[in-house]
Amino acid sequence: MPFTSGRHFLQIPGPSNVPDRVLRAIDNPTMDHRGPDFGIFSKGVLQDIKKIFKTESDVIIYPASGTGAWEAALVNTLSPGDKVLMAETGEFATLWNNLAIKLGFEPDFIEGDWRRGAPADLIEARLAEDKNHEIKAVCVVHNETSTGVVSNVHNVRKALDAANHPALLFADCISSLGSVEFKHDAWQVDVTISCSQKGLMLPPGLSFNAISKKALAASEKNTYKRSYWDWQPMITNNATGYYPYTPSTNLLYGLREALDMLLEEGLDNVFKRHDRYAEATRRAVQAWGLEVLCQNPDEYSSVLTAVLVPEGHDADNLRHIILDKFDMSLGTGLGKVKGKVFRIGHLGDFNDLTLMGTLSGVEMGLSLADIPHQKGGTAQAMSYLAGNE
Ligand SMILES: *Cc1c(COP(=O)(O)O)cnc(C)c1O
Repeated sequence: MPFTSGRHFLQIPGPSNVPDRVLRAIDNPTMDHRGPDFGIFSKGVLQDIKKIFKTESDVIIYPASGTGAWEAALVNTLSPGDKVLMAETGEFATLWNNLAIKLGFEPDFIEGDWRRGAPADLIEARLAEDKNHEIKAVCVVHNETSTGVVSNVHNVRKALDAANHPALLFADCISSLGSVEFKHDAWQVDVTISCSQKGLMLPPGLSFNAISKKALAASEKNTYKRSYWDWQPMITNNATGYYPYTPSTNLLYGLREALDMLLEEGLDNVFKRHDRYAEATRRAVQAWGLEVLCQNPDEYSSVLTAVLVPEGHDADNLRHIILDKFDMSLGTGLGKVKGKVFRIGHLGDFNDLTLMGTLSGVEMGLSLADIPHQKGGTAQAMSYLAGNE
């Protein structure tokens, strides 16, 4: 690889940049995960992670990617052949749907155009039609990382209540946790799925299930076989800070540090910071004369912005030019929007000048890739950040 000086700009919407404090924390000698120090350390982590999910309930931590935690949510609560209701908000919703099919569940996948969030009204209608309560769970992706659209999970909760339907509610908040407000208890979510490498600012390798009492009760009756993902031995061992198998010790040191950082800044301030960078980014996109993929301003994501390139142009060519010339990685278009969009990640360990460096790289790249646009998006974002729009 050719030599590059300075730091690489990793502006994909996860894995996100890992702050130095977290890297230093991971860089410590590995502990005996059955020893006395580990139990004390680990109990604190298991306690404080609840604050990020806004829950009093158990949060399970797996040494796995987010996909594992998707599977864990389903196999711990449902039985083979159970019907689930899912909404096609984008690539991640599609992957979760495929996973459910492979595991032998029967998802009803409400079609979507990838430019809007999960339709609470259609979900309510489907549940109202399901008189025999055959649907056992409703699954929604909170922040759809492939499109930059946030689904209103609270409204989906209200849809379940309005239909008076007993299905469990599962939310994937993999890319929203620690970046966009999410309330596991207040919104009565039954299983919240997340992982380490997005708003939690850690490397990949940890994932989570936050579980409600109702989900726990379902896990005592369902008949799906599981072993590695089984909540029960996790809960039993976690009570004293331990795990049924080897946890990802050094990533847990990193998690401890990341939790300290989020709590020092204050979660509300973290969310406001993300909102501000997303707004500055959209102002840049608008000034360039380009279109944001998300069509509903109430559902704009503060984690990332997916930008459409004009017809006849290739978003991946733009990304390759930007990587080559400016050593910056932007998110590729996934699935149905491959080549049509590029994604700007503005999450996690991020400040004003990180955003300005990112937007400058995009604006220079648009010129080099001959993508029709107007100049001055970066200047718009600068004046917004400087407070003189
Ligand atoms: C990243 C992501 C996933 C997949 O997580 P992995 O760690 O790659 O398994 C799932 N859902 C959403 C919304 C994501 O952003």
